[in-house]
Amino acid sequence: MIYDCLIIGGGLAGLTCGIRCASNGLHTAIISGGMNSLHFSSGSIDIAGYNTKGEIIKKPFDYLKTMIKENSAHPYAKTGIPGVRESLNFITGKFMEEGINLNHNNDMNHFHVTTLGTLKPTFLSQESVFNTDVADIANSHNKIAILNFKGFRDYYPEQTAANLKKNSMFKDKEIILGDISLPYYLNTEKNLHEFRSIDLARIFETERYLPRIAEEIKKASGGASIVSLPAFIGIRNYKTIRSKLQEMTGKFIYEIPSLPPSILGLRLDNALKNSFINLGGEYIAGERVVSGSIKNNQVEFVTTRNSGNIPVQSKFYVLTTGSFFSGGLAAGFDNISEPLFGLKVKGENKRSKWYNSNFFDRKSHPFLGFGVETDSKFNPVSGSGKTIKNLFCAGSVLSGYNPVSEGSGGGVAVSTAFKCAERIIKEIKND
Ligand SMILES: Cc1cc2nc3c(=O)[nH]c(=O)nc-3n(C[C@H](O)[C@H](O)[C@H](O)COP(=O)(O)OP(=O)(O)OC[C@H]3O[C@@H](n4cnc5c(N)ncnc54)[C@H](O)[C@@H]3O)c2cc1C
Repeated sequence: MIYDCLIIGGGLAGLTCGIRCASNGLHTAIISGGMNSLHFSSGSIDIAGYNTKGEIIKKPFDYLKTMIKENSAHPYAKTGIPGVRESLNFITGKFMEEGINLNHNNDMNHFHVTTLGTLKPTFLSQESVFNTDVADIANSHNKIAILNFKGFRDYYPEQTAANLKKNSMFKDKEIILGDISLPYYLNTEKNLHEFRSIDLARIFETERYLPRIAEEIKKASGGASIVSLPAFIGIRNYKTIRSKLQEMTGKFIYEIPSLPPSILGLRLDNALKNSFINLGGEYIAGERVVSGSIKNNQVEFVTTRNSGNIPVQSKFYVLTTGSFFSGGLAAGFDNISEPLFGLKVKGENKRSKWYNSNFFDRKSHPFLGFGVETDSKFNPVSGSGKTIKNLFCAGSVLSGYNPVSEGSGGGVAVSTAFKCAERIIKEIKND
């Protein structure tokens, strides 16, 4: 069997590309080796959060012009600004079909509260996150409550509160900290510390304990009408759960991301996978591509861990294997490589230049900008210096941008993947 499009890697980029190809009737498969960055993310999609001086960007679409002017190798220079807009409209539409509303703040960035209690600019957030203008909400309430679940070790409300207090918006607010007990605990022999966000989210999903949880929230929040909980109030039915809890408590309830696994990210991942599969896409999970064969500047086939020597073939291939974090790029002692096709990589070989000595440096670390080099159509260059026409690259495997210092990870993943799909669809239709 020969696919129209075979996507290697099933993160935000791979799924966006797959959905666009499958919705255009292409016979599309995604081979995905495991968890992706969404499982570790805030579940918000950043487009451009900071300029090169580290200042916060208010209107990201206006700023993209500057970004492209300052860095013509940036992936956004290849997608074009209308391409970024179109891709985000496409993906928010797909999320909406799957029941997730991703909101922006009148085309402006908004702040969301991170697990550490810092405020991070982002463009699209789930409605259960503190995603309207934080300043408005903070201004109109003198008291906020930050609650945790008894025994839950992956969230530290004291730290959230201490960092919020450092922010001018919150410095005069009364912050109430409290623990609530999940009634399910009464029926289990497990140690409370064993529960991770995913276990707690599953308990919430049952909706059985909501009235008692609502009572606990009312008791613990000390009269505050704004209450945060760590983000695990359900995976699929979190909207219903949140509105029921708000109704039962009479309080505004929002979620703060906790340590991984990120339920906010998992919701996005599940929604995209459903969308892809419902469109007829083939999602091959838990499988890894181990090699790719290139002949006459074309990918001939790939092999996978489980297929042994049996080649998997497609007319077009898309590499969305992510950065170092997901195995899309590999670091040797003094060299950087792309492990599947041996593609040309842009980076620095001298290890001492990969990172900044200050871990939290606002400029982030140079290695985050390393990645595969492509032409303006996202076709990469092989080790022998030739462009590979039936292979496209998208997402964080790309070079030319730094997702952390720019706050651009999600936007680059979605827009580059969307563009690759557009090119493949065009080529298949012209064939
Ligand atoms: C910890 C973390 C948190 C982040 N948080 C945010 C955030 O909150 N907001 C934001 O906008 N951006 C965030 N980002 C930036 C992130 O890079 C992008 O948002 C985006 O999710 C990247 O998607 P991707 O599909 O390119 O790569 P990934 O999500 O990394 O997915 C790559 C996939 O490819 C698979 N894979 C790798 N090699 C193979 C192989 N050989 N065969 C088969 N499969 C393979 C991996 O298993 C993985 O599933 C975060 C990044 C990280 C690392």
